[in-house]
Amino acid sequence: MRTGIGFDTHRLVEGRKLILGGVEIAHPFGLLGHSDADVLTHAIMDALLGAIAAGDIGQHFPDTDPKWEGADSLKLLCAVVALLRERGWRVGNVDATVLAERPKLMAHIPEMRSRLAEAMGVGEADVSVKATTVEGLGAIGRREGISAMAVATVERL
Ligand code: MG
Repeated sequence: MRTGIGFDTHRLVEGRKLILGGVEIAHPFGLLGHSDADVLTHAIMDALLGAIAAGDIGQHFPDTDPKWEGADSLKLLCAVVALLRERGWRVGNVDATVLAERPKLMAHIPEMRSRLAEAMGVGEADVSVKATTVEGLGAIGRREGISAMAVATVERL
């Protein structure tokens, strides 16, 4: 068994959809990025890549490549899990925390877990998603962006 860590941040702007863990959430602001900017899914992808020492998502899905423009990050997550499998690993479990002052995410967490689990081919019991505010402190607290952190374990096939 091995473990990996992932972290990501995206800026909140007007005129973008807010997508977290593959779930579109009604909010006046969305995350800015080359892909759909799903910060939670990106942190999970980096944790999985880190667990097998296979670089990071910037290497695998460069934001200079038009191929990934507007990309559905759940599809990118599927591609990461396929890479793991090619190298003889499967996802053990994932635990993630989203840092966001707004919106409140609690009600959306079950659907995020379900979408993420489906994309990774694991059970929902193997996918934990948590959310916290940062008590109004710093850039996240000023609602300028959202961050996410994740850890993942992988197991030999
Ligand atoms: Mg990202």
